[in-house]
Amino acid sequence: MKLYNTFTNQKEEFKPVEDGKVKFYVCGPTVYNYIHIGNARAFIVNDVLRRFFEFSGYEVNYILNITDIDDKIINQAVTEKVDVGEITKKYSAAFFEDIKNLNIKPATHNPRATEHIEEIIALIESLVEQGFAYESKGDVLFDISKFDDYGKLSGKNLDDLRAGARVAIDEKKNNPLDFVLWKKQKPGEPAWASPWGKGRPGWHIECSAMSMKYLGDTFDIHAGGIDLAFPHHENEIAQSECASKNKFVKYWLHNGFLKIDGDKMSKSLGNFRTVKDILESYSYSAIRTFFLQKHYRSPIDLTSDGLQAAKSASIKLNIFYKNLCQAITGFESDLEIIETASFSEKDAEYLTNIKQLRIEFVNALNDDMNTPTAISKLFEIVRHGNQLLTNEPLSENQKLLGKLTQKYIEDFDLVFGILDAKGKEFDSGLVGDLMEVLMEMRSDLRTKKEWALSDKIRDSLGGMGIVLEDKEGVTTWRKK
Ligand code: AMP
Ligand code: ZN
Repeated sequence: MKLYNTFTNQKEEFKPVEDGKVKFYVCGPTVYNYIHIGNARAFIVNDVLRRFFEFSGYEVNYILNITDIDDKIINQAVTEKVDVGEITKKYSAAFFEDIKNLNIKPATHNPRATEHIEEIIALIESLVEQGFAYESKGDVLFDISKFDDYGKLSGKNLDDLRAGARVAIDEKKNNPLDFVLWKKQKPGEPAWASPWGKGRPGWHIECSAMSMKYLGDTFDIHAGGIDLAFPHHENEIAQSECASKNKFVKYWLHNGFLKIDGDKMSKSLGNFRTVKDILESYSYSAIRTFFLQKHYRSPIDLTSDGLQAAKSASIKLNIFYKNLCQAITGFESDLEIIETASFSEKDAEYLTNIKQLRIEFVNALNDDMNTPTAISKLFEIVRHGNQLLTNEPLSENQKLLGKLTQKYIEDFDLVFGILDAKGKEFDSGLVGDLMEVLMEMRSDLRTKKEWALSDKIRDSLGGMGIVLEDKEGVTTWRKK
């Protein structure tokens, strides 16, 4: 399997630290608000990679942390006029709810920064003792002049960084690029006792301490959005490697941004849509399909058309899967006999095709998680499968092929997580199909300014508990 390592700027063969195991750390959310669909991209693409490792037979130790102490959290507590603890409780619960609703598998551990203060302090002490960090007026800072490899991950040139940082001179720092490991308490802020007085940890050191605690000094994968490469991950490397004297991470993986109207979706720009909001109109299946249709490192634009297309694709898949299951209900046969069965020419061709597609699916994922190609293989199987179902009622041999198709789709889904097991939105595939037809008709009516008729459709559906929403020229529907 090959993965693109940001550290070396190339695809590399994946060789785990320990045979058969993957030690995987993902930078989790800072819990001061609901996560947006851009954040969700980071959690979905890493969930899919983790699932693919498991599909390939690895045992994965998957750590996704919660940053529950930070300036932004403190500010939000002031805004909402509640304690910091209430903010982190509320938004971490919302986070877990969101990722569950996105069909993201639970992590092995979700360490919280505030529950690892002891480990964080020990790590800072080790850096101070070894001369890589210094105390300054109650803060502790990392001295970047002591780490020659600084800038290597993000490809930043230290001289350029120094020139840029000179503007923002900070009297506490020996060098403008030095970053904070421990912050002295300001009045009213939460704080913990430490050898440098009361204070709280900086963001970067939290991830170093928690990742090394759960995964060891050297681990396989550290991932997050590309915005984290600098300074967050750069600083993590500096701290961790200076403290342990070992290589910190073998493969640094970064996902591209979800953009909206050309800008990065972000809380600070205010151009975000929360996961909760999007889940009102789109199933997790549609949302995951939307992300999987693009390579994880490419930027994606969030558009209604893109989401709608993903929704149609996921409905198509789920309807096919349901029909397939129905067509082979009660068919009990060992799949092994497929190798010795004598098929008609057409059925034999079907078998060759889907076997080939399964191989291509695995090959695509082994090539730096090429999910757009891998998912296109799934949809080719659906296309062949729909063809097979036109023979209904199926012959025994065709049921055998149907059963293999079902197994392949379920295998693919171990990685993609886009089958709707509960049949939520697809409780009847027909409903989804009929709704698509109705919405298309209504859209035509609106184009022709036939408002009365178009409103009649909306009102009638409203009476049945179905809400239509017109946004940016696209209509979506959901159950009330
Ligand atoms: P934050 O809570 O801001 O630290 O973000 C949590 C995760 O989401 C990090 O891995 C970020 O890099 C990632 N992220 C934030 N915004 C976006 C975006 N617009 N597109 C993709 N990933 C993002
Ligand atoms: Zn982190």
